[in-house]
Amino acid sequence: DALGPTVCVGEILVEIVATTVGNGFLEAQPLVGPFASGAPAIFISQCGRLGGQAAMVGAVGDDDFGRVNTDRLKRDGVDISAISIDPDYPTGSAFVRYRKDGSRDFVYNIATSAAARFGWSRGVADLIDRTGHLHVMGSALSVPSARAVIDKAVDIVKARGGTLSVDPNLRKELKLDEETDRRFAKLVAAADLLLPSGEELERAAGVEGEAKAIRRLFEMGVTEIVLKRGAGGATYFASGGDRIDAPAFVVQEVDPTGAGDCFGGAYLTCRRLGMSPKQALTYASAAGARNVTVLGPMEGAGTRPELDAFVASTERRP
Ligand code: ATP
Ligand code: MG
Repeated sequence: DALGPTVCVGEILVEIVATTVGNGFLEAQPLVGPFASGAPAIFISQCGRLGGQAAMVGAVGDDDFGRVNTDRLKRDGVDISAISIDPDYPTGSAFVRYRKDGSRDFVYNIATSAAARFGWSRGVADLIDRTGHLHVMGSALSVPSARAVIDKAVDIVKARGGTLSVDPNLRKELKLDEETDRRFAKLVAAADLLLPSGEELERAAGVEGEAKAIRRLFEMGVTEIVLKRGAGGATYFASGGDRIDAPAFVVQEVDPTGAGDCFGGAYLTCRRLGMSPKQALTYASAAGARNVTVLGPMEGAGTRPELDAFVASTERRP
């Protein structure tokens, strides 16, 4: 951590969750929220809770939804000095309802919210000039303002000897335009650590087959890959050839949202705190599993004592 904090750039949202399972929002229904959310915010919350130096770049509106987020991140120990407060636009939001088959319906307000209206500023520049590690979520690439900041930040952080992690975090259905696709490929090539989930691995590598994709990514310059497999656990691959399989913890899943972001935030933070890949994987698996046991995208993000207690008291899948 001597080089400076871990910084995440991207969308900050509230999430409002339907309490019943069904199709969408065409009728009046019970909802619960607002919960602090946005994949980049969940990631950085988990970093802060685990005791890593962490800072967030993004924007909220001058409203209670914004304060839900800034209060939460501050409480987690995250530096919020580079989160701007937009005087004109509301905080971004996502309404979510689970269907019977586990898929989800969303109503989003991101593109026309504060979340999409931040840019390079004096405060952002000051933070990036002292950043030790940058984490980028693929989801942020669909937000033009975040894209511009990320492009600049990657070059500055890398030039000062910092490192980069990337969670592709792209839904399979999401088609990128050619320019975003190119930007994504460039980011992957610049990444030291890649945190894909499922088929994102092959998408990031641009080739099919797990082993081929891993090989291709190492050729591109990535040094560490952690593949997330939901309740199937996770696997660590190192460019030197090491592989570690981490079984998942056995939990009652209440709300799967945010598992991957908590997993990533915990893994990266533990590695930056000097832990071995194996120990970082244990904390990361615990962070992901614990988060799915609580309603709300980051409500289950654990502190180090909470994760230690979770590991000590929870079975792992054989
Ligand atoms: P999301 O994008 O929805 O936040 P993701 O697809 O990026 O998630 P997942 O693979 O779903 O990431 O979850 C990350 C890690 O969290 C898994 O590798 C696993 O260790 C843990 N995890 C997730 N879901 C469960 C579960 N139901 N039971 C136990 N562990 C889980
Ligand atoms: Mg993910």
